[in-house]
Amino acid sequence: MKIGFIGTGVMGNAICLNLLKAGHDLVVYNRTKSKTDNLVAQGATWCESPKKVAENAELIFTMVGFPADVENVYFGEEGIFQAAVKDKYLVDMTTSKPALAQRIFREGEQQGAKVLDAPVSGGDLGAKNGTLTIMVGGDEAAYQDLEPVFKDFGKIVHYFGAAGAGQNTKMANQIMIAGTMTGMCEMLVYAKKAGLALESVLETVGAGSAANWSLSNYGPRILKDDYTPGFFSKHFLKDLRIALETAKEMKLELPATKEAEKLYETLVDERGLGDLGTQGLIKLWWN
Ligand code: NAP
Repeated sequence: MKIGFIGTGVMGNAICLNLLKAGHDLVVYNRTKSKTDNLVAQGATWCESPKKVAENAELIFTMVGFPADVENVYFGEEGIFQAAVKDKYLVDMTTSKPALAQRIFREGEQQGAKVLDAPVSGGDLGAKNGTLTIMVGGDEAAYQDLEPVFKDFGKIVHYFGAAGAGQNTKMANQIMIAGTMTGMCEMLVYAKKAGLALESVLETVGAGSAANWSLSNYGPRILKDDYTPGFFSKHFLKDLRIALETAKEMKLELPATKEAEKLYETLVDERGLGDLGTQGLIKLWWN
């Protein structure tokens, strides 16, 4: 199947490499063109706009940064919906708003396209290793058609229901991560102050009932002073805001998630450290 991919950043680029490895014909577009160079060198074809990608592929994936980027890529002047998309598959993998996923679905339906929201979890390493978890909402028949393609870069793929259900599942995931990231940082801050050997603490805590993904993936990076982004702090703050905004619409209060939002706001908005990985949260305590 001829696949188009828009947004070849940390995640998109790694997913594209797995799609190429699986033998797919790939056309690509990214705002900063140089981030597609390695893909073109491996056989992908560059297109100069989202519209052109949509004209040249049967299945179009998008994985950009923020909901405003998603809007631009679908509804902008050179956007996907400016192309003839009848009978094409449109799949947004950006972590974005459930309501925006529903809007894209409605517009797609009007134009005869098959639309899915399919955000992922598993981080930069999951994208590189082709082991992502993929949470899908939208057109169920399209999901059945595309399951083999999802398996080219994902290990676990689940369909959750109508448009927006994939994004809602991802928000549930991020609410959990709010707890594991803040828990991991406060655990390390406490252990350091108590004078404990931090490598041993990570190993021991990570082997017991406090084991979790944030601890095992980001704890070691913190001890090596490695704050390069697997997952940008600015993107996690975006996710916390979407989760809290959507919860508010459901008349739900999530006080622990709200606290995590405040901490990441301090890191990103006040300290200007949004381009650090989410493990950079520790910098609120350690310089
Ligand atoms: P990223 O490296 O910033 O990638 C996003 C890419 O989209 C960038 O290359 C950006 O181009 C491009 N882009 C933005 N707006 C565009 C537009 N209008 N047209 C074309 N390209 C556009 O971020 P990422 O880490 O890959 O994350 C992408 C999404 O996946 C985010 O929503 C994030 O929350 C989510 N996510 C990330 C992870 C993770 O661990 N990294 C895990 C799960 C989900 P520029 O190069 O010009 O900025």
